[in-house]
Parts: sequence; structure tokens; C-alpha cells
Amino acid sequence: MDTESYVLPVREVIRETADAVSVVFDLTEEAQGHFDYTPGQFLTLAVPSDQTGLVARCYSLSSSPVLDQPLTVTIKRTVDGYASNWICDNLQAGDTLRVLPPSGIFTPADLDADLLLFAGGSGVTPVISIARTALAKGTGKIVVFYANRDQDSVIFAEEWSRLSAENPDRLIVVHWLESVQGLPSQAQLQAFASEFSTYTSFCCGPAPS
Ligand SMILES: Cc1cc2nc3c(=O)[nH]c(=O)nc-3n(C[C@H](O)[C@H](O)[C@H](O)COP(=O)(O)OP(=O)(O)OC[C@H]3O[C@@H](n4cnc5c(N)ncnc54)[C@H](O)[C@@H]3O)c2cc1C
Repeated sequence: MDTESYVLPVREVIRETADAVSVVFDLTEEAQGHFDYTPGQFLTLAVPSDQTGLVARCYSLSSSPVLDQPLTVTIKRTVDGYASNWICDNLQAGDTLRVLPPSGIFTPADLDADLLLFAGGSGVTPVISIARTALAKGTGKIVVFYANRDQDSVIFAEEWSRLSAENPDRLIVVHWLESVQGLPSQAQLQAFASEFSTYTSFCCGPAPS
């Protein structure tokens, strides 16, 4: 594993929803070759802090390594959280951040497998990277169950619609909105998952608030 950090320029900060942004990085010459990744992996960002100098936080890559997409992480505000709010409020194109290279094992062993992907809120970040990559390079079917508080909280809403329209025989995206259906119960999730018991499953979401 690569343990040396690199200072990366921020190419763009994209507002995804009222409380989530995507941060797009450029790779410096020094960083080239150190940021290859598999879908589902994360970067560790060093966020400046007046109190401690820096705080380190992990953010999953939302971009796909097999598409022509720059290195991108997506960050959703955590209530009263330091780094996520600092990034959403302060980070701009042209800034730099110190970043540790990709890490993590939340990644499909076989892109041709049928995949059942559960995401809650910001948990969509690695899930969209896995889905984008499997659609581009794999052959299996992909079912995404994406739970959010309400419609306005859905990150990548347009992209999910586009991917579903472009891959009608391979991708199904089910949006579950707490504002409409309440929190999904264990029984509801079990009933949903039982239809796809042969699929390889991944589940990602924040701790309940
Ligand atoms: C592998 C991995 C991947 C991740 N990927 C993503 C991603 O793609 N997108 C994303 O948005 N997040 C992701 N996260 C979560 C992210 O790393 C941060 O944990 C998140 O952004 C919160 O950090 P923060 O600094 O904003 O909050 P913090 O300041 O760490 O606070 C977190 C919570 O703890 C509470 N808290 C803080 N200090 C105290 C204290 N002293 N006592 C009691 N409570 C306290 C805060 O009120 C807040 O509710 C990922 C985490 C991991 C481990």
C-alpha cells in the first residue's frame, strides 16, 4: 500500500445537492501512477484545522477508473461534523489538498458478477463508482437500492436516470425516500433482497443520525 501523501490541485467543486459536493482533483506529475484505483476505494484527505493543524477523513471515489473521468470524491455534510462542512463551505477550484492514495477492499472481485448494491445517503459514492465501472466493463445485471431522506437529498439523481435509460436490460435503480415510505424496515429490505439472492451484495451508508 502507498503510504506517502501528495498535494493535489482541486480542478472543480461541483454542488450535487444542497448538502453534498463532488471534489475533482488533478494529478500532478509527482502523483502520476500513485492514484490508480479499483471502484469502491477511498482517498484520505487532510483538511486544514485551526485547532489541530490538519484532520484526516476518508472519502470514497465516485468516479470510475475505467471511464475517462478525473479523480473525484463526493462529500455530504455530517451534522456538526468538522471536515465535511469545511469542504462544503470552503473548498474551491484552484485550492490544493494533501491526499493519501486510494485504499480499501470494498470492491467487486468480478465485474461480470450480478450485483446488488445498497446505498444510504452519502453511501452512494462508492456504489456509483462500482455501478459505472461494472456497466462499462462487466456483463452482469446490477440492482441498486438507494435510500434517502427526500427527493432533494438524492445524489446523482440525473446520472442514475441516464444510466438506467441507457442500460434497461442491465440496471435497475430503486429510490427509497424516507419522506414517502418511511425508513426501510428489516422485513422490507429482506423481501427486496430475496429476489436477488444469487447476486453479490455491497451495502454502504453512514451511521444512523
Ligand atoms: C472508508 C470510508 C469512506 C467514506 N466515504 C465517504 C464518502 O464518500 N462521502 C462522505 O460524505 N463521507 C464518507 N465517509 C465519512 C467521512 O470519512 C467522515 O467521517 C464524515 O465526513 C464526517 O466527518 P466530519 O469531520 O464532518 O465529522 P466529525 O467532526 O468527525 O464528526 C462526526 C460526528 O461526530 C460528532 N462528534 C464530533 N466530535 C465529537 C465529540 N467530541 N463528542 C461527541 N460527538 C462528536 C459530530 O457532532 C458529528 O455528528 C467515509 C468514511 C469511511 C471510513
